[in-house]
Amino acid sequence: MIGVDRARARAPGSLRREGPKHLDSTIEPLVAAGRIRSEDFLRSIYGNDEVRQRLWSMQHGKCCFCERTYEDKHSTVEHFRPKTKATDLDGSHRMGYWWLAYEFRNLYFCCRNCNTLKRAFFPLAPASVPLQPRQKPWEATERALVLDPGLVDPEPHIVWRWKNRRDGYVPVGVTEEGRQTIRATQLDQRDTLNRLRHRYYRRQLRPVIRAHRDARAQGDDPAVAEAKRRAHLLAQDEAEFAGLARFLFRRFGLL
Ligand SMILES: [Zn+2]
Repeated sequence: MIGVDRARARAPGSLRREGPKHLDSTIEPLVAAGRIRSEDFLRSIYGNDEVRQRLWSMQHGKCCFCERTYEDKHSTVEHFRPKTKATDLDGSHRMGYWWLAYEFRNLYFCCRNCNTLKRAFFPLAPASVPLQPRQKPWEATERALVLDPGLVDPEPHIVWRWKNRRDGYVPVGVTEEGRQTIRATQLDQRDTLNRLRHRYYRRQLRPVIRAHRDARAQGDDPAVAEAKRRAHLLAQDEAEFAGLARFLFRRFGLL
């Protein structure tokens, strides 16, 4: 997981126009009556083609959590702060963030697997005061325990440790935010994800690390420079699994 540069995309006009209207006319009255359901939010507003395309392209086609690359057609829209209810660490629920359902900065491109696993899980730090309705996360001090990659850099919260020959390197949280984010989407224990990530490591990252090590041992400066050039490319935002790549390349002195 790496940071997402939200300045790369603007909220589409359709979302800015239709979202607030639907909140006022339909959502807020339903909330007031205690009858809000997930289906009441219109996918034709928060998840229309324009929104999906902008998020997907802003994130270089990568899921905001697992960093797998997906084709355009697989793109789904994730509400970072869940819209109808939010689940705390102890499994209890509180009101969701309905007023952020059409807020572009609350939306991410997210793969179906991460989206399904995370669901409404959105714990806050103990003693953190939840946002009040209509309050924006960047205007208040609610301390979420799931990392928002558009607001904070997730990298200092997560390290990568070797697990075994089947799973390779898996993420480990070094802060409560890091741990809960990994827990929310099970980034460390999904068979397919681990297998694909480990294959990527073996085919793309490990050869560069080894080439760099050998080149240094032989004092071959041009080969050292070439390994670093390749590492730099694999660590860019658009590269798949860039979080893992950056961690390893830093550790082995390539970045
Ligand atoms: Zn994902």
